[in-house]
Amino acid sequence: MDFTLSGEQRQIRDTVAEFVDEEVVPRAAEIDETDEFPADLIDEMAELGLMGMPFPVEYEGAGLDYHSYAIGLAEIARGSGGLGTIVAAHTSLAGNMLYEFGDEAQKEEYLTALNTGEDIGAFALSEAEAGSDVPAMSTAAERDGDGYLINGGKLWISNGSVADTVTLFAKTDPDAGRKGISSFVVRPEEDDGFIVEGTEDKLGDKGCPTAELRFDDMWIPEERRLGEEGAGFVHALKTLNGGRITIAARSVGIARAALDEAKTYAQEREQFDGPIAEFQAIQHKLADMDTKARAAELLMHEAADLKMRDEDYIKEAAQAKLYASEISREVANEGVQIHGGYGYTKDFPAERFYRDAKLNEIYEGTSEVLRNTIAQQLLDE
Ligand SMILES: Cc1cc2nc3c(=O)[nH]c(=O)nc-3n(C[C@H](O)[C@H](O)[C@H](O)COP(=O)(O)OP(=O)(O)OC[C@H]3O[C@@H](n4cnc5c(N)ncnc54)[C@H](O)[C@@H]3O)c2cc1C
Repeated sequence: MDFTLSGEQRQIRDTVAEFVDEEVVPRAAEIDETDEFPADLIDEMAELGLMGMPFPVEYEGAGLDYHSYAIGLAEIARGSGGLGTIVAAHTSLAGNMLYEFGDEAQKEEYLTALNTGEDIGAFALSEAEAGSDVPAMSTAAERDGDGYLINGGKLWISNGSVADTVTLFAKTDPDAGRKGISSFVVRPEEDDGFIVEGTEDKLGDKGCPTAELRFDDMWIPEERRLGEEGAGFVHALKTLNGGRITIAARSVGIARAALDEAKTYAQEREQFDGPIAEFQAIQHKLADMDTKARAAELLMHEAADLKMRDEDYIKEAAQAKLYASEISREVANEGVQIHGGYGYTKDFPAERFYRDAKLNEIYEGTSEVLRNTIAQQLLDE
């Protein structure tokens, strides 16, 4: 067992950290305030190879291992939670769907453009009446000539209003339950009937547009189906397993940001003739925050390790995401507390970390659903 980062992993962390400190941190409050998709930062990240971190160089990816990708994503989320979601949805969800389940032509055409950052990706699974209960979805893909006619709608789709490639789940056999779901590649610019209904006004995660989509007699050719008909539910589950490692990374990044900020503040803020960092109550908070962030990071790396070794990692990814998401909210909460009244204002980023952290407990499997998954795996062992 080796807990040391390799030379390459350290280099990735340092490179991304430098970019984040110079380019993202100074912009984070503005992104939070305007809620605008930071297209210029995405271009810069694409130049650095950060839009296709875990995919092979033959598809213009950066060819990094999953540890490095998670480390990179944690750094990005340390700078901006919204940017963390943009990259996670683009890479772990849309990119991974193409990498794992696309044929050679689909990978060359769509994955390559995602990896270069020329295209932005989204993953459209959830619906208004089908969140945790995925098979309850009603979006339908009906056979029509040499393609499919798609009708329905999706909700909560990260990057949904700016995406060039959307990996979409729809029912090809409405009577077959989870075995009746198939997955497709949709191209909003080319496919008539793809409608962006609007975007959500959210608590946090600003800069990443969360869109409601509608498909109105949208026809797509058969070559856009990913894998076999009926394989979509398995595609979604497998993709979300890997995605959970990166939501753990987003959580770790936000927790680190909250801790760094709280530590600095505690050393500078004076009450009762000295810095508040001298109070044991504050020191214990900082100690707990660091311990939790480190434990979350280790769970994240364990799940990444199993994934890289092609071993079963459903339980470990769920545990990493569950723990990291809950501690990110706890750590950010303590960050606000250490700032006292100032933490409750927009004068300091502590409140942004708190708002951004909350989302980790909701998407890519709520904490309740993850506990179900972990318990099921545990009882089946
Ligand atoms: C900002 C944001 C971005 C998102 N991005 C995407 C995206 O890019 N693509 C995408 O497809 N989706 C996305 N989602 C959707 C997200 O994955 C869902 O919101 C999530 O799966 C929960 O579904 P729901 O909101 O319908 O809640 P529900 O499923 O209605 O859950 C409501 C409550 O009931 C609990 N609950 C539900 N079922 C069970 C159960 N079996 N046992 C115990 N408790 C249960 C839940 O834990 C929760 O507390 C996003 C959501 C948000 C908020």
